[in-house]
Amino acid sequence: MNEEVGFIGLGAMGTPMAGNLLVGGFKLRVWNRTAAKAAALTARGATATAMAAEVAVTGGVAITMLADDDAVESVVVGEGGLAARLGAGGVHISMSTIAPATARRLARIHLEAGNIYVAAPVFGRPENAEQRQLVVCTSGPAEAKAHIRPLLEAMGRAIFDFGEEPGAANVAKLCGNFLIAAAIEAMAEAFAMAEKSGVDRAQVAEMLTKTLFAAPVYQRYGEMIASKRHLPAGFKLPLGLKDVELVLKTAGAARVPMPLAAMLRERIIAGLAQGREEMDWSALALGVLDDAGIK
Ligand code: NAP
Repeated sequence: MNEEVGFIGLGAMGTPMAGNLLVGGFKLRVWNRTAAKAAALTARGATATAMAAEVAVTGGVAITMLADDDAVESVVVGEGGLAARLGAGGVHISMSTIAPATARRLARIHLEAGNIYVAAPVFGRPENAEQRQLVVCTSGPAEAKAHIRPLLEAMGRAIFDFGEEPGAANVAKLCGNFLIAAAIEAMAEAFAMAEKSGVDRAQVAEMLTKTLFAAPVYQRYGEMIASKRHLPAGFKLPLGLKDVELVLKTAGAARVPMPLAAMLRERIIAGLAQGREEMDWSALALGVLDDAGIK
Protein backbone atom coordinates (compact mmCIF):
# COMPACT_ATOMS: atom_id res chain seq x y z
CA MET A 1 0.00 0.00 0.00
CA ASN A 2 1.66 3.25 -1.05
CA GLU A 3 -1.35 5.52 -1.49
CA GLU A 4 -1.65 8.88 0.25
CA VAL A 5 -3.33 8.49 3.62
CA GLY A 6 -5.46 11.07 5.42
CA PHE A 7 -5.17 11.65 9.18
CA ILE A 8 -7.61 13.79 11.21
CA GLY A 9 -6.90 14.58 14.86
CA LEU A 10 -3.37 15.38 16.00
CA GLY A 11 -3.72 15.24 19.78
CA ALA A 12 -1.67 13.30 22.32
CA MET A 13 -2.32 10.04 20.45
CA GLY A 14 -2.84 11.19 16.87
CA THR A 15 0.49 12.98 16.54
CA PRO A 16 2.73 10.00 17.38
CA MET A 17 0.47 7.62 15.41
CA ALA A 18 0.62 9.80 12.30
CA GLY A 19 4.38 10.17 12.85
CA ASN A 20 4.77 6.39 12.70
CA LEU A 21 2.92 6.30 9.39
CA LEU A 22 5.54 8.70 8.01
CA VAL A 23 8.26 6.45 9.44
CA GLY A 24 6.52 3.52 7.71
CA GLY A 25 6.88 5.26 4.36
CA PHE A 26 3.26 6.41 3.91
CA LYS A 27 2.48 9.79 2.39
CA LEU A 28 0.25 11.79 4.74
CA ARG A 29 -2.39 14.51 4.44
CA VAL A 30 -3.26 15.81 7.90
CA TRP A 31 -5.80 18.09 9.56
CA ASN A 32 -6.25 19.29 13.14
CA ARG A 33 -8.78 21.76 14.57
CA THR A 34 -5.93 23.70 16.18
CA ALA A 35 -3.93 24.02 12.98
CA ALA A 36 -0.59 24.76 14.70
CA LYS A 37 -0.40 21.18 15.97
CA ALA A 38 0.18 19.97 12.41
CA ALA A 39 3.54 21.80 12.19
CA ALA A 40 5.66 18.96 13.58
CA LEU A 41 4.29 16.60 10.93
CA THR A 42 4.40 19.01 7.98
CA ALA A 43 8.06 19.63 8.88
CA ARG A 44 8.53 15.89 8.27
CA GLY A 45 6.80 15.89 4.88
CA ALA A 46 3.05 15.67 5.63
CA THR A 47 0.65 18.00 3.80
CA ALA A 48 -1.80 19.98 5.96
CA THR A 49 -5.29 20.65 4.59
CA ALA A 50 -7.66 23.55 5.35
CA MET A 51 -10.73 21.35 5.98
CA ALA A 52 -10.93 17.99 7.74
CA ALA A 53 -12.48 16.00 4.88
CA GLU A 54 -9.89 17.33 2.44
CA VAL A 55 -7.36 14.85 3.86
CA ALA A 56 -9.24 12.16 1.91
CA VAL A 57 -8.54 11.29 -1.70
CA THR A 58 -11.31 9.58 -3.68
CA GLY A 59 -11.24 5.84 -3.05
CA GLY A 60 -8.44 6.27 -0.50
CA VAL A 61 -8.01 5.73 3.24
CA ALA A 62 -8.59 8.31 6.00
CA ILE A 63 -7.98 7.84 9.72
CA THR A 64 -9.68 9.71 12.57
CA MET A 65 -8.17 9.98 16.06
CA LEU A 66 -10.45 12.65 17.57
CA ALA A 67 -11.53 13.10 21.18
CA ASP A 68 -15.11 11.84 21.21
CA ASP A 69 -18.27 10.76 19.36
CA ASP A 70 -19.40 14.31 18.53
CA ALA A 71 -16.02 15.26 17.10
CA VAL A 72 -15.90 12.16 14.87
CA GLU A 73 -19.49 12.65 13.67
CA SER A 74 -18.79 16.32 12.93
CA VAL A 75 -16.07 15.45 10.39
CA VAL A 76 -17.91 12.50 8.79
CA VAL A 77 -21.47 13.61 8.08
CA GLY A 78 -22.84 16.23 5.72
CA GLU A 79 -22.07 17.44 2.23
CA GLY A 80 -18.50 18.41 2.99
CA GLY A 81 -17.92 15.45 5.28
CA LEU A 82 -15.55 12.52 5.07
CA ALA A 83 -18.22 10.04 3.92
CA ALA A 84 -19.04 12.20 0.89
CA ARG A 85 -15.42 13.00 0.13
CA LEU A 86 -14.06 9.42 0.33
CA GLY A 87 -16.15 8.43 -2.70
CA ALA A 88 -16.58 4.89 -3.98
CA GLY A 89 -14.44 2.28 -2.26
CA GLY A 90 -12.80 4.64 0.23
CA VAL A 91 -12.12 3.48 3.80
CA HIS A 92 -12.51 5.40 7.05
CA ILE A 93 -10.45 3.90 9.90
CA SER A 94 -12.01 5.23 13.10
CA MET A 95 -9.52 4.87 15.97
CA SER A 96 -11.05 7.01 18.75
CA THR A 97 -12.79 5.47 21.76
CA ILE A 98 -16.46 6.03 20.88
CA ALA A 99 -19.81 4.34 21.55
CA PRO A 100 -20.52 1.11 19.67
CA ALA A 101 -23.86 2.69 18.71
CA THR A 102 -22.02 5.63 17.10
CA ALA A 103 -19.78 3.22 15.19
CA ARG A 104 -22.87 1.44 13.82
CA ARG A 105 -24.45 4.76 12.80
CA LEU A 106 -21.27 5.95 11.08
CA ALA A 107 -20.90 2.57 9.31
CA ARG A 108 -24.39 3.06 7.83
CA ILE A 109 -23.58 6.60 6.70
CA HIS A 110 -20.42 5.41 4.95
CA LEU A 111 -22.26 2.50 3.33
CA GLU A 112 -24.88 4.87 1.93
CA ALA A 113 -22.07 7.02 0.50
CA GLY A 114 -20.51 3.96 -1.17
CA ASN A 115 -17.54 3.60 1.12
CA ILE A 116 -16.45 1.60 4.17
CA TYR A 117 -16.14 2.19 7.91
CA VAL A 118 -13.64 0.16 9.94
CA ALA A 119 -13.59 0.52 13.73
CA ALA A 120 -10.04 0.33 15.08
CA PRO A 121 -9.86 1.68 18.66
CA VAL A 122 -6.54 1.24 20.45
CA PHE A 123 -5.02 0.38 23.81
CA GLY A 124 -1.85 2.15 24.88
CA ARG A 125 -0.86 5.59 26.05
CA PRO A 126 0.96 8.31 24.06
CA GLU A 127 4.38 6.82 24.92
CA ASN A 128 3.20 3.44 23.60
CA ALA A 129 1.92 5.15 20.45
CA GLU A 130 5.34 6.78 20.03
CA GLN A 131 7.06 3.39 20.31
CA ARG A 132 4.62 1.73 17.87
CA GLN A 133 3.39 -0.47 20.70
CA LEU A 134 -0.38 0.08 20.44
CA VAL A 135 -2.80 -2.84 20.65
CA VAL A 136 -5.51 -2.39 18.02
CA CYS A 137 -9.03 -3.90 18.08
CA THR A 138 -10.78 -4.03 14.71
CA SER A 139 -14.27 -4.70 13.34
CA GLY A 140 -15.77 -4.13 9.91
CA PRO A 141 -15.76 -5.65 6.42
CA ALA A 142 -13.03 -8.30 5.99
CA GLU A 143 -11.68 -7.08 2.65
CA ALA A 144 -11.22 -3.52 3.92
CA LYS A 145 -9.48 -4.80 7.06
CA ALA A 146 -7.03 -6.79 4.93
CA HIS A 147 -6.38 -3.68 2.80
CA ILE A 148 -5.59 -1.42 5.77
CA ARG A 149 -3.56 -3.95 7.78
CA PRO A 150 -0.17 -2.47 6.76
CA LEU A 151 -1.30 0.89 8.15
CA LEU A 152 -2.33 -0.60 11.47
CA GLU A 153 0.91 -2.55 11.64
CA ALA A 154 2.84 0.70 11.17
CA MET A 155 1.18 2.04 14.35
CA GLY A 156 0.80 -0.96 16.63
CA ARG A 157 2.32 -4.20 17.85
CA ALA A 158 -0.82 -6.39 17.80
CA ILE A 159 -4.17 -6.47 16.02
CA PHE A 160 -7.18 -8.31 17.48
CA ASP A 161 -10.15 -8.70 15.17
CA PHE A 162 -13.74 -8.86 16.43
CA GLY A 163 -15.53 -9.66 13.17
CA GLU A 164 -17.70 -7.65 10.82
CA GLU A 165 -20.21 -6.02 13.19
CA PRO A 166 -19.03 -2.38 13.22
CA GLY A 167 -19.53 -1.73 16.95
CA ALA A 168 -17.80 -4.89 18.19
CA ALA A 169 -14.27 -3.47 18.46
CA ASN A 170 -15.61 -0.52 20.46
CA VAL A 171 -17.32 -2.89 22.90
CA ALA A 172 -13.99 -4.70 23.40
CA LYS A 173 -12.22 -1.37 23.92
CA LEU A 174 -14.75 -0.25 26.53
CA CYS A 175 -14.37 -3.58 28.38
CA GLY A 176 -10.66 -2.86 28.66
CA ASN A 177 -11.02 0.74 29.81
CA PHE A 178 -13.57 -0.28 32.44
CA LEU A 179 -11.05 -2.79 33.81
CA ILE A 180 -8.30 -0.14 33.88
CA ALA A 181 -10.49 2.35 35.77
CA ALA A 182 -11.52 -0.38 38.21
CA ALA A 183 -7.86 -1.31 38.75
CA ILE A 184 -6.99 2.35 39.48
CA GLU A 185 -9.75 2.54 42.11
CA ALA A 186 -8.79 -0.82 43.64
CA MET A 187 -5.12 0.10 43.92
CA ALA A 188 -5.95 3.54 45.33
CA GLU A 189 -8.04 1.94 48.09
CA ALA A 190 -5.42 -0.72 48.91
CA PHE A 191 -2.54 1.78 49.03
CA ALA A 192 -4.59 4.18 51.21
CA MET A 193 -5.21 1.35 53.67
CA ALA A 194 -1.47 0.59 53.72
CA GLU A 195 -0.55 4.24 54.28
CA LYS A 196 -3.01 4.83 57.12
CA SER A 197 -1.85 1.59 58.73
CA GLY A 198 1.70 2.94 58.79
CA VAL A 199 3.00 0.78 55.93
CA ASP A 200 4.95 2.29 53.01
CA ARG A 201 2.46 2.48 50.11
CA ALA A 202 5.21 2.49 47.48
CA GLN A 203 6.73 -0.68 48.93
CA VAL A 204 3.33 -2.44 48.84
CA ALA A 205 2.85 -1.33 45.23
CA GLU A 206 6.29 -2.56 44.23
CA MET A 207 5.84 -5.96 45.89
CA LEU A 208 2.43 -6.57 44.33
CA THR A 209 3.24 -5.32 40.83
CA LYS A 210 6.40 -7.46 40.72
CA THR A 211 4.58 -10.62 41.80
CA LEU A 212 0.82 -11.31 41.84
CA PHE A 213 -0.06 -8.24 39.76
CA ALA A 214 2.81 -8.19 37.27
CA ALA A 215 0.69 -6.81 34.44
CA PRO A 216 1.31 -3.61 32.45
CA VAL A 217 -1.79 -1.80 33.75
CA TYR A 218 -1.01 -2.49 37.42
CA GLN A 219 2.65 -1.66 36.93
CA ARG A 220 2.21 1.65 35.09
CA TYR A 221 -0.74 2.96 37.07
CA GLY A 222 0.47 1.41 40.33
CA GLU A 223 3.59 3.55 40.27
CA MET A 224 1.57 6.73 39.54
CA ILE A 225 -0.96 6.00 42.29
CA ALA A 226 1.64 4.94 44.88
CA SER A 227 3.66 8.12 44.28
CA LYS A 228 0.50 10.33 44.00
CA ARG A 229 1.87 11.64 40.68
CA HIS A 230 -0.81 12.40 38.10
CA LEU A 231 0.92 15.01 35.92
CA PRO A 232 1.71 15.23 33.07
CA ALA A 233 -1.43 13.56 31.77
CA GLY A 234 -1.18 10.79 29.17
CA PHE A 235 -4.95 10.34 29.16
CA LYS A 236 -6.85 13.24 30.69
CA LEU A 237 -9.48 12.82 33.40
CA PRO A 238 -12.33 14.35 31.26
CA LEU A 239 -11.65 11.66 28.61
CA GLY A 240 -11.87 9.09 31.41
CA LEU A 241 -15.34 10.40 32.26
CA LYS A 242 -16.28 10.11 28.59
CA ASP A 243 -15.20 6.45 28.56
CA VAL A 244 -16.92 5.44 31.80
CA GLU A 245 -20.11 7.09 30.54
CA LEU A 246 -19.77 5.11 27.28
CA VAL A 247 -19.41 1.93 29.36
CA LEU A 248 -22.59 2.74 31.30
CA LYS A 249 -24.50 3.58 28.13
CA THR A 250 -23.38 0.37 26.43
CA ALA A 251 -24.09 -1.72 29.54
CA GLY A 252 -27.55 -0.16 29.88
CA ALA A 253 -28.40 -0.96 26.26
CA ALA A 254 -27.23 -4.55 26.81
CA ARG A 255 -29.17 -4.73 30.11
CA VAL A 256 -26.07 -5.42 32.19
CA PRO A 257 -25.91 -3.69 35.58
CA MET A 258 -22.39 -2.34 36.22
CA PRO A 259 -22.50 -0.84 39.71
CA LEU A 260 -18.73 -0.45 39.81
CA ALA A 261 -18.81 1.65 36.62
CA ALA A 262 -21.51 3.86 38.16
CA MET A 263 -19.34 4.38 41.23
CA LEU A 264 -16.29 5.19 39.05
CA ARG A 265 -18.34 7.80 37.20
CA GLU A 266 -19.14 9.57 40.48
CA ARG A 267 -15.49 9.31 41.54
CA ILE A 268 -14.32 10.99 38.33
CA ILE A 269 -16.96 13.72 38.51
CA ALA A 270 -15.84 14.48 42.06
CA GLY A 271 -12.24 14.72 40.84
CA LEU A 272 -13.24 17.15 38.10
CA ALA A 273 -15.16 19.20 40.68
CA GLN A 274 -11.88 19.43 42.61
CA GLY A 275 -10.24 21.05 39.55
CA ARG A 276 -8.35 17.99 38.27
CA GLU A 277 -9.27 18.57 34.59
CA GLU A 278 -5.65 18.61 33.38
CA MET A 279 -4.56 15.56 35.34
CA ASP A 280 -4.24 12.00 34.10
CA TRP A 281 -7.28 9.82 34.72
CA SER A 282 -5.19 7.99 37.34
CA ALA A 283 -6.08 11.09 39.44
CA LEU A 284 -9.41 9.45 40.20
CA ALA A 285 -7.23 7.80 42.89
CA LEU A 286 -6.96 11.19 44.64
CA GLY A 287 -10.67 10.91 45.51
CA VAL A 288 -9.81 7.87 47.63
CA LEU A 289 -7.20 9.95 49.47
CA ASP A 290 -9.79 12.73 49.98
CA ASP A 291 -12.23 10.23 51.53
CA ALA A 292 -9.55 8.70 53.73
CA GLY A 293 -8.38 12.10 55.00
CA ILE A 294 -4.90 11.65 53.52
CA LYS A 295 -3.17 14.81 52.24
P1 NAP B 1 -6.41 14.74 22.98
O1 NAP B 1 -4.92 14.85 23.16
O2 NAP B 1 -7.30 15.50 23.87
O3 NAP B 1 -6.72 15.11 21.44
C1 NAP B 1 -8.04 15.20 21.00
C2 NAP B 1 -8.06 15.54 19.53
O4 NAP B 1 -9.44 15.72 19.13
C3 NAP B 1 -7.34 16.84 19.18
O5 NAP B 1 -6.80 16.73 17.88
C4 NAP B 1 -8.49 17.85 19.22
O6 NAP B 1 -8.25 19.02 18.47
C5 NAP B 1 -9.57 17.04 18.57
N1 NAP B 1 -10.93 17.52 18.84
C6 NAP B 1 -11.59 17.53 20.03
N2 NAP B 1 -12.84 18.00 19.87
C7 NAP B 1 -12.97 18.31 18.55
C8 NAP B 1 -14.03 18.80 17.76
N3 NAP B 1 -15.22 19.09 18.30
N4 NAP B 1 -13.83 18.97 16.44
C9 NAP B 1 -12.63 18.67 15.87
N5 NAP B 1 -11.58 18.19 16.57
C10 NAP B 1 -11.75 18.00 17.90
O7 NAP B 1 -6.90 13.22 23.08
P2 NAP B 1 -6.08 11.88 22.84
O8 NAP B 1 -5.50 11.46 24.16
O9 NAP B 1 -5.19 12.02 21.65
O10 NAP B 1 -7.29 10.87 22.54
C11 NAP B 1 -7.87 10.76 21.25
C12 NAP B 1 -8.82 9.57 21.29
O11 NAP B 1 -8.07 8.37 21.58
C13 NAP B 1 -9.92 9.64 22.35
O12 NAP B 1 -11.09 9.04 21.87
C14 NAP B 1 -9.34 8.82 23.49
O13 NAP B 1 -10.34 8.31 24.32
C15 NAP B 1 -8.60 7.74 22.74
N6 NAP B 1 -7.48 7.11 23.43
C16 NAP B 1 -6.60 7.86 24.16
C17 NAP B 1 -5.53 7.23 24.81
C18 NAP B 1 -4.55 8.00 25.65
O14 NAP B 1 -3.84 7.37 26.46
N7 NAP B 1 -4.43 9.30 25.52
C19 NAP B 1 -5.35 5.85 24.69
C20 NAP B 1 -6.25 5.11 23.90
C21 NAP B 1 -7.30 5.76 23.28
P3 NAP B 1 -7.47 20.29 19.15
O15 NAP B 1 -6.03 19.97 19.04
O16 NAP B 1 -7.91 21.44 18.32
O17 NAP B 1 -7.98 20.38 20.57
